[in-house]
Amino acid sequence: MLLTISAAHERAGELGYLLHKHPGKVQGFELSFGKAHVFYPEVSDERTSACLMLDVDPVAMMREKRRDQVFGLDQYVNDRPYVASSLMSVAISQVYGSAMNGPCKDRPELVTMKWPLTARIDVLGVRGGLEWLEKVFLPMGYELAVERRVLDDQFPEWGESPYFSVTLSKVTTVSMLLTHLYVLIPVFDNQKHYYVGEDEIDKLLAKGAGWLSTHPEKEFITCRYLKYRASLYTEALARLMPEVSEEAAVEQETVTQVAEETLETPLSLNDQRHGAVLAALKGTGATRVLDLGCGEGKLLRELMKEKQFEEIIGMDVSIRTLEVASRRLKLDRLAERQASRIKLLHGSLIYRDRRLEGFDASALVEVIEHLDPARLAALERVVFEFARPGTVVVTTPNQEYNVMWETLPAGQFRHSDHRFEWTRAEFEEWALRVAERTGYRVRFDAIGPVQEGIGSPTQMGIFEKG
Ligand code: SAH
Repeated sequence: MLLTISAAHERAGELGYLLHKHPGKVQGFELSFGKAHVFYPEVSDERTSACLMLDVDPVAMMREKRRDQVFGLDQYVNDRPYVASSLMSVAISQVYGSAMNGPCKDRPELVTMKWPLTARIDVLGVRGGLEWLEKVFLPMGYELAVERRVLDDQFPEWGESPYFSVTLSKVTTVSMLLTHLYVLIPVFDNQKHYYVGEDEIDKLLAKGAGWLSTHPEKEFITCRYLKYRASLYTEALARLMPEVSEEAAVEQETVTQVAEETLETPLSLNDQRHGAVLAALKGTGATRVLDLGCGEGKLLRELMKEKQFEEIIGMDVSIRTLEVASRRLKLDRLAERQASRIKLLHGSLIYRDRRLEGFDASALVEVIEHLDPARLAALERVVFEFARPGTVVVTTPNQEYNVMWETLPAGQFRHSDHRFEWTRAEFEEWALRVAERTGYRVRFDAIGPVQEGIGSPTQMGIFEKG
């Protein structure tokens, strides 16, 4: 695993001062997972290159791990020694820490100097889409060149590997280049090599200062850097963009949920809604079902009563709501057999989640209107492209019906956390577009009493995979 940093500049010969590593010798550093070496394959006044080579010892890494981890051969035999990953970030911070963070005692003026710099990473494992390299690096002003590696050049028929030599070029400071590499290399590496805890948020925000909050892919970067730990990236994103704090939205949710229920009580719309969704799910013959944005678990309780459903998953972004659901469903007191049918998951529907793949059917009851448009687009992909259940039942308020509620002032939403409430035409347009794009068929149904010219209070779309 190699990281080569090259400078092309009239003072390139002084790169060694900036990196705090003498170009005249090969230097070794002991790290917890193996060794790092720094050497200079070329040094001249016009162009100097420094290599950071990692020699990862997977056996030593295993010794570091806690004893309660399950043994598996793949923990010893894997691509870790060859592929740049979070281990490279650890090495950057330990070997080039002063270059990344500190002043340069001998040549202080070099620290803020922008040079034409190149970083070459041999190799980076890019799983799930080469286009992410472009989406991440191009907005930051990097020029990008990639070479894909074959799996084995002795056996060309084995085809290409997910490994790339990646070259990034930009006129910038050495410190900034190292900072970007430190944050972004682990983003492309889907494995988790170490425990990702609260302190990683602070590291990410400190290293991301000045560029991450304005990066168009800040959600992707944050989520991957924090290894999909929902509670961490939610907090990190909230701190990056205080105006869209998910926590605050959830806080709001708990308060306003009551108001919405009171408003709708005379029609007991909530029960009718869950009844209609339940009937739709039963009708598909599904046995394994998801309730996405399950809230406090009212639909889950109805699903549990039906033997047809052998595996029931409730997922929500709000931990507090899940705790209420768990109490209401008395999950800790269920007989083993019942308990094995149901599981609550914490997660966000705007991030791809493999735990949601392979189900027969899914409910999304009164959830979409809680997401603002950019996030709704992400949800569409997560549900219809990645999770792809056989059937998806979506309900959302019908805005035309709001005039029927005397206590609801004109123009106001039923729930203060709603980002939109759609007319029937708007919902149908959205649903047809999503269905067409993702290969589903959709039909519509009304929930609650239908008023002429207005429709019903809740509208439902039933999507079936084509
Ligand atoms: N489906 C439930 C709750 C509807 S309220 C019912 O019918 O009673 C909307 C729910 O969506 C809330 O529990 C909220 O926490 C959840 N939610 C909002 N944004 C979400 C997201 N990005 N991912 C998962 N759940 C989300």
